[in-house]
Amino acid sequence: MNQVLISEVGPRDGLQSIQSIMPTADKCRWIDALYLAGLREIEVGSFVPPKLLPQMADTATVVKHALTLSGLTVMALAPNLKGAEAAILAGVHKVTIPVSASEAHSWANVRKTRAEMITEVARIVRYRNENAPQVKIEAGVATAFGCTIQGIVPEDEVIRLAVELINVGVDESGLSDTTGYANPAQVKRLFRRLHLEIGDKAGAAHLHNTRGLGLANCLAAYEEGVTSFDASMGGLGGCPFAPGASGNVVTEDLVFMFEAMGAVTGINLELLFAARKPLQLGLPVETIYGMVPEAGLPKGFQLTS
Ligand code: ZN
Repeated sequence: MNQVLISEVGPRDGLQSIQSIMPTADKCRWIDALYLAGLREIEVGSFVPPKLLPQMADTATVVKHALTLSGLTVMALAPNLKGAEAAILAGVHKVTIPVSASEAHSWANVRKTRAEMITEVARIVRYRNENAPQVKIEAGVATAFGCTIQGIVPEDEVIRLAVELINVGVDESGLSDTTGYANPAQVKRLFRRLHLEIGDKAGAAHLHNTRGLGLANCLAAYEEGVTSFDASMGGLGGCPFAPGASGNVVTEDLVFMFEAMGAVTGINLELLFAARKPLQLGLPVETIYGMVPEAGLPKGFQLTS
């Protein structure tokens, strides 16, 4: 019960949302440092047209490098069949597909309605089943807690969408607070319903810190039995197609919270803090965040990993 998986999404969610383009060699050095700290699942990029997101143009090369790190689950995002084919061809272990619960965000993000996205996900599942059955597919329900374009996203629609995604064959479906609108009571309510509806196919909590509630929301999800959390080193992140969205939960602060509570992450905090250096070297003009790396570990704090 007290084991949690921290999935680092910074190389994708973080780097896609900033203006700077991190050089490929720097990305690889940063991923190496994250791996050294004990991270065992990393979303290393996304397979999208380089014209739309030039920051992600080198994803296949980054995947190839990440595959040399033994025991690491290498993930990449793909918004459509074409992206998923490229991801599978590159050798990823897991493809993650964002599916918006908000019709308005779905259109802005992928130029498809929710119904069209379900059809697209079904095509991706069919392709995977025929060509690479070992690859896992995760569909994250984006804007599950509210949308910067549409506003309120009805909870019934969020849960119905997650159920539909499982029904077309994805391995897991989690909930994403793409816009940083969630609060802990809402997180508890939605994850409780998700667990009731899809059981152990409930996937990760992907929570942003835009309004300072990221850690509180992660704790709320943990208390509802969630054991897999997305986070981004230095709090980088956002969605380029959800105006005003920013800032994933800071990996360093999240790992500290869980370790301090006695939950096991397998991550060494000092090595994790050290991994900020290659990140900063690769992105010299960007500000990176994190309370615990700046304040330091409490006196007498016992590292478990
Ligand atoms: Zn995100």
